[in-house]
Amino acid sequence: MKICLFWHRRDLRIHDNVGLAEALASGLPVVPLFIYDRDILDHLPNKADARLTYIFDQVERLARETEAAGGTFLARYGRPVDVLEQLVQEFDVVAVHTNEDYEPYATKRDAKVGDLLRRRGVDFLLYKDQVIFAKDDIMTKSGTVPKVFGAYHKTFLARLTDELLLPYGSAEAFTQAHLQRLDPDQPSPRPTLAGMGFERKEQYVPTTDLPAEEVVRHYHQTRNTPALQNGTTRLSVQLRFGTVSVRQAMRQAKALNPKLLAEISWRDFFMMLLWHYPNTATEAYDPKMRAVPYRNNEDEFRAWCAGRTGYPLVDAGMRELNATGYLPNRVRMTVAGFLVKQLFIDWRWGEKYFADKLLDYELANNVGNWQWMAGTGAVSAPWFRVYSPDSQLEQVDPELKYVKRWVPEVGTATYPAPIVDHRFGRDRAVEAIRAARIAASGDGKIVGA
Ligand SMILES: Cc1cc2nc3c(=O)[nH]c(=O)nc-3n(C[C@H](O)[C@H](O)[C@H](O)COP(=O)(O)OP(=O)(O)OC[C@H]3O[C@@H](n4cnc5c(N)ncnc54)[C@H](O)[C@@H]3O)c2cc1C
Repeated sequence: MKICLFWHRRDLRIHDNVGLAEALASGLPVVPLFIYDRDILDHLPNKADARLTYIFDQVERLARETEAAGGTFLARYGRPVDVLEQLVQEFDVVAVHTNEDYEPYATKRDAKVGDLLRRRGVDFLLYKDQVIFAKDDIMTKSGTVPKVFGAYHKTFLARLTDELLLPYGSAEAFTQAHLQRLDPDQPSPRPTLAGMGFERKEQYVPTTDLPAEEVVRHYHQTRNTPALQNGTTRLSVQLRFGTVSVRQAMRQAKALNPKLLAEISWRDFFMMLLWHYPNTATEAYDPKMRAVPYRNNEDEFRAWCAGRTGYPLVDAGMRELNATGYLPNRVRMTVAGFLVKQLFIDWRWGEKYFADKLLDYELANNVGNWQWMAGTGAVSAPWFRVYSPDSQLEQVDPELKYVKRWVPEVGTATYPAPIVDHRFGRDRAVEAIRAARIAASGDGKIVGA
């Protein structure tokens, strides 16, 4: 029996899924597949990982939904190239459909998978699903990569027709008529967490659907108040793993709140930038910022990680991150700005720490935002801008409601004194960056503002 595979990656849903809809419409019966990628899992720092637990639960849900619809769901553990090689030997696979992934690792993996499948005479078909505009869909008038978010977003809005946000009919076509049930004795059992060497870790569970309309309507007024549990949409985990489609989220935002639509479009923007500049995952986009002499004091880094810097908003944020795997955007900005411009520690240290802790960890968004805060990115805050953590606190949590939730000892003798004087830290960073930029310019002149 000839079949095609639909390979789920960052799209752990049946509804409104471009690649799945195309596979179901291809005329061949579909077998959905998920691969627990050893190349990624082997590098996870902890054996109890909340993200893997979340993925595992979603994969099991997909398997149940597929079986209820009359099909078989395959889940395998291994290297994608090896798993697919084995599957094309086991079954008469004509095509593998999947949705595009723009991260540097993923594009290399897909190139290898594409080579393998072509050699075996199997079609490998990729679709844009994760974003509305990808790669070079939006360029400047002169044909260059956009690096000013305001101008990018203007074009984004001008081109964002309602048609682009229409849902794809994958759920409607997800029926026995289009799925293949494999011989129950044949498919190997789905991997378990323990079987892959992991334990369950349950952390903050995101919304299971779109945020409530109430939250979206007030978003622009509430988004910078971290004490509010529903001040932001908490969509990030859903968008990261594709349990909500970006079209759904944007349709709702377009109808109810332009500010939210703009925020979600940052995600398209950062994925587009990382696709064009994959090197920025590990180095500053701005060459003049590559030789900044960060201090990288390990004790101070540990104090930042643990939420013991003596700056209440920074400490509350880091403790929330450690406890829940989540942090509101405004507080992410505060803790990141503090690390790079007050402690003068390399943004990559912070990026890595976030990568280990965030349930919504997303390379493009994480790197894009860290480079923005460090003043090193394709789009950035000016390198000399340094936010004061105390004035941030005054603006976003003047009554210390958020801070007291996470740092109950604030204001008592047990709370540490500030790890660095804010003005001293700011001047130290700005002068060192200025000197590095002058040296990088080669002619003794200051580069940039
Ligand atoms: C230093 C730093 C690191 C970050 N790392 C990540 C990360 O690893 N993964 C991640 O998804 N977001 C990251 N962000 C962006 C942002 O903080 C989160 O997307 C947001 O806080 C998630 O909560 P929410 O879904 O309630 O956001 P909302 O404010 O409700 O926004 C809705 C959606 O818009 C998108 N969005 C909002 N703000 C941004 C932004 N600044 N950049 C890109 N997309 C945005 C997200 O998809 C988000 O889910 C980071 C921000 C900073 C400052």
